[in-house]
Amino acid sequence: MSDKFDVIVIGAGPGGYVAAIRAAQLGLKTACVEKWVDDKGAPVLGGTCLNVGCIPSKALLETTHKLHEAQHGFAAQGIVADNVKIDTQKMVERKDQIVKNLTGGIGGLFKANGVTLLQGTGKLLANKQVEVTDKDGNATTYAAENVILASGSVPVEIPPAPLTEGLILDNAGALEIRETPKRLGIIGAGVIGLEMGSIWARCGSEVTVLEAMDDFLALADIDVAKEAKKLLTKQGLNIKLGARCTGTEIIDGKEVKVKYTDANGEQELIVDKLIVAVGRRPQTQGLLAEDSGVKLDERGFIFVDENCRTDAPGVYAIGDSVRGPMLAHKASEEGIMVADIIAGHKAAMNYDCIPNIIYTFPELAWVGKTEQELKSEGVKYKVGKFPFAASGRAMAANATEGFVKIIADEETDRILGVHMVGGIASELIAQGVIAMEFAASVEDLQLTVFAHPTVSEAVHEAALAADNHAIHIANRKKR
Ligand code: FAD
Ligand code: AMP
Repeated sequence: MSDKFDVIVIGAGPGGYVAAIRAAQLGLKTACVEKWVDDKGAPVLGGTCLNVGCIPSKALLETTHKLHEAQHGFAAQGIVADNVKIDTQKMVERKDQIVKNLTGGIGGLFKANGVTLLQGTGKLLANKQVEVTDKDGNATTYAAENVILASGSVPVEIPPAPLTEGLILDNAGALEIRETPKRLGIIGAGVIGLEMGSIWARCGSEVTVLEAMDDFLALADIDVAKEAKKLLTKQGLNIKLGARCTGTEIIDGKEVKVKYTDANGEQELIVDKLIVAVGRRPQTQGLLAEDSGVKLDERGFIFVDENCRTDAPGVYAIGDSVRGPMLAHKASEEGIMVADIIAGHKAAMNYDCIPNIIYTFPELAWVGKTEQELKSEGVKYKVGKFPFAASGRAMAANATEGFVKIIADEETDRILGVHMVGGIASELIAQGVIAMEFAASVEDLQLTVFAHPTVSEAVHEAALAADNHAIHIANRKKR
């Protein structure tokens, strides 16, 4: 038996590395186990998010948005930028550099906070012991007072579209595309599918997205989903709903024939690359010894209570491997909550106030309940909506598409949901999150002074509109 720790964290993604840093800050002797190594055998920190998820996708989205703006938005502003082109190789190299800087930074943060990094694959044994098998196959067992499982998730693979080097890709492969495919197919019109589709459509790919469900973005507010479908279609994404992929065939080693069924029967599509973006599943294979005491739920997620406690005393689980949205900020906040609980502090997380964002352009962002949810729950609500087309600052920024929609309880005035489609909705949504976290009413936002001219004024105006008092648009007739 080797060293004993107060806390051992398994996994160094945004759940695990944040939990480890917080635990160490709170004076706990902490180790973090990570199995990912690069081609030289050096540990890779940051998990899915920093390496093949949030950060690299946003780097590519930012670059291609600038390209799109230069090609399609400059002329109207009197900027002459003829023959603007994209060097996709350079774009991907820049993305790689950003990933390198950030993941390397976590190693520095571990050192600064006194977190011990244990390279290897962690396995939880009975009695909070953790076996770590390093890249060379050497196993060491460590004891811990507390263990935090933060093993994250992996992409779902579907039998009709098995991954094929360079042709049928998952999210990691999609982020490595270095040349614009002439025809790009995407299976799944979820967050990842739409972000990847946007990146390559802006570079000139003919993008077809096959989505098995009949509804587009069923989890988003109905107005957001409708507006997003309209705008993304206008940008060239061919989104086919009710289209289920049933098979694929590689033709001459260079093209993919995609078979799918829709309302009209069997269909085919030929693409140069196919991205499979049908969701992610918890990564728990090999993580738990039979007698670890930790149980999985019926969908394969690690079973936890509202404080992320598993069935084994002193063992917690956080992030993508447990119930709840698969989002980096949810993983990190669970990590902080658990570290605080272990250190003896009172801590809880508000799962009703987790923002969701899809980084298309315009961006889609929301927090709280959708109109459809409130309707089905029979809650009486009021809605205030303000379009960016009526915002002077949005006009100046050449980003007038979309709106802010605030939904509040008809009787108590409390804000129940904030939904946006807009140029910087990913930033603006924080205003809705803060308002809801502080249990704000619509009146609280109405009485708040927003700087002029800012796109944030759309939040103010949407709050005013909920009571038919918007200033810069005509209000609905009083009901
Ligand atoms: P992960 O980030 O998956 O990290 C788990 C870590 O544990 C990995 O490093 C893994 O190697 C390690 N590990 C697993 N098992 C073991 C073991 N037995 N021993 C040792 N180490 C182990 N979320 C957002 O909030 N915003 C976004 O914009 C966003 N964009 C995304 C874009 C893409 C393309 C993808 C794929 C995901 C995106 N996500 C986004 C989701 C986000 O990446 C995840 O929600 C987040 O990474 C989950 O964090 P985690 O710490 O739970 O797991
Ligand atoms: P998300 O979980 O947000 O990444 O979204 C994944 C999407 O993929 C969901 O909307 C699923 O309906 C869709 N999907 C899953 N399997 C298939 C399939 N075989 N063909 C087309 N779409 C699919």
